Parts: sequence; structure tokens; C-alpha cells
Amino acid sequence: MSETTRTAIVTGAARGIGAAVAKRFAADGMNVAVLDLDEAACQQVADEITAAGGKAIGVGCDVADEEAVATAVERVANELGAPTVLVNNAGIIRDNMLFKMTTDDWDSVLGVHLRGAFLMTRAAQKYMTEAKWGRVVNLSSTSALGNRGQANYSAAKAGMQGFTKTLAIELGKFGVTANAIAPGFIVTDMTAATAERVGMDFEAFQQAAAQQIPVQRVGRPEDIAAMAAFFASEDAGFVSGQVVYVAGGPKD
Ligand code: NAP
Repeated sequence: MSETTRTAIVTGAARGIGAAVAKRFAADGMNVAVLDLDEAACQQVADEITAAGGKAIGVGCDVADEEAVATAVERVANELGAPTVLVNNAGIIRDNMLFKMTTDDWDSVLGVHLRGAFLMTRAAQKYMTEAKWGRVVNLSSTSALGNRGQANYSAAKAGMQGFTKTLAIELGKFGVTANAIAPGFIVTDMTAATAERVGMDFEAFQQAAAQQIPVQRVGRPEDIAAMAAFFASEDAGFVSGQVVYVAGGPKD
């Protein structure tokens, strides 16, 4: 294992899966930029990390905004060190059946997930290729395989898989790996919003979901953080271009 302290950027890290990934990375010894839309919310997570003995900053940034991304990534490099680990986790849902889906619902979801991941990765790869070491971890989803009411989200999450494999091919010679995590049902505000959309109590929604999952439970943000920690580790240097379904059972 190397003694180098790595700097990571985790997008959408003010809550949910992103916050769990940021905390896990800090516990594993990385400096962490907690990046999200609301800088005050980011700072809360950064403060928790600092209080636990880690090093973190909160960075307010819309990942779909080209200028904001360039500024944010440069700020991380100046304040924390060259960002050589990037987790593209920021995400939104705008679910609706295709015939009711607005163009704005489509553009917003593709904008945050795909344009956001593209802009963030393009900005950060400079530091990774210079360092001849890097780790990109992208959040896909089981919805990439198709999910009723999620034409926009499903397309974005399938797109994340193609993006990941292409990054792996292009950046491998610089010591940079790229992998994707495709979570199943994880308890966060996002799944709470889905329960609300289908008119179910969140507890009942979780219980119903757990019955369909081979390990008979729903996922927790920490389940995804554990996978991200492996992909970001020194040990994972020969694993690239992979999509791992972290869903309590197999998916195809
Ligand atoms: P979440 O609780 O809704 O958190 C998503 C975070 O992303 C929020 O803090 C949100 O900020 C932020 N965000 C949204 N748009 C952004 C933008 N343009 N720029 C920067 N940050 C932005 O969601 P989650 O459940 O943790 O999901 C995290 C990732 O995992 C997403 O990519 C999601 O698609 C994926 N995923 C989740 C599940 C699941 O079951 N939960 C399953 C499969 C995949 P605001 O709060 O300010 O909006």
C-alpha cells in the first residue's frame, strides 16, 4: 500500500449515498471534497468528517454547469490537493410514464447524470493523468436495465455504463481506472420520493422491496460506500471498466 494521501471529490455528497461515500473515504484516510448544490449542506457533512478526525471541505457546485465545475475542481486542487479520485454520484429523478414525461424532465435528468459526470470527469482527469494514478467511480443503477416510469433515468444510468467503459479504455494507460456501481434499492431521500410517487408509506415500500431481494433486506448507503471504497483503493488497480450491481442479488 502507498503512503500517499489521496484527494477525492464526491458529487451529490450532502446526503444519501454520496454522504456515506464521503465519510467512508475520509475514514479510509483520503482528503474529501464534499460537493453538492447547496454549499451549507456540504459544509455540514464536511464538519462531521472533520469532527471525526478526517480532512474535508464543502464545495457548492451544480455538476451540470460547465463554469461552476471548472471552478470547483480547481478549488479542490488548491485547498485539498490534486483530486485523483472522483465519484460521480449526484443525481435526480423526474419519473413519469413516457407519454406524460416533459422535455424538461428528460433534459434535467440527462443533464445532471450524464452531462454532470462528463464535465466533472473531464475537469478531474487532468490531475489524474498528471499523477499517473486515478480512480473514477460512477453511479449507475439497476434501472439501467429498464424501469417503468423512468425512461429518462434508465437512459442516463445505461449511459453511465458506456461512459465508464470508455473512460477505462482511454485513461488506462495513465494508471486511471473507471468503474460503475449499479445499486438496487437503497434507503435514501430518493427512494422515499419514489414511495411517495406510487402512493405508499415508505416503511411499507421498503418491506415490499425487501421481499423481492434475495438477501431479504433493502440496501443502505454504507453498502454502496463499501464498494466505492474498494474501487477507489490502491488494491483495485487491475479492475477497470466494470459494472457491479450492488443489489442484494444478481441482475442481468
Ligand atoms: P439523494 O439522496 O437524492 O442525493 C442526491 C444528491 O445529489 C442530493 O444531495 C442532491 O442535491 C445532489 N444533486 C442533485 N443535482 C445536483 C447537481 N446538479 N449538482 C450537484 N449535486 C446535485 O440520492 P441517493 O439515493 O443518495 O442517490 C445517489 C446516486 O445513486 C444517484 O446518482 C442515484 O441515481 C444513484 N442511485 C440511487 C439508488 C437508490 O436506491 N437510492 C439506486 C440506484 C442508483 P439536492 O438535495 O440539493 O437536490
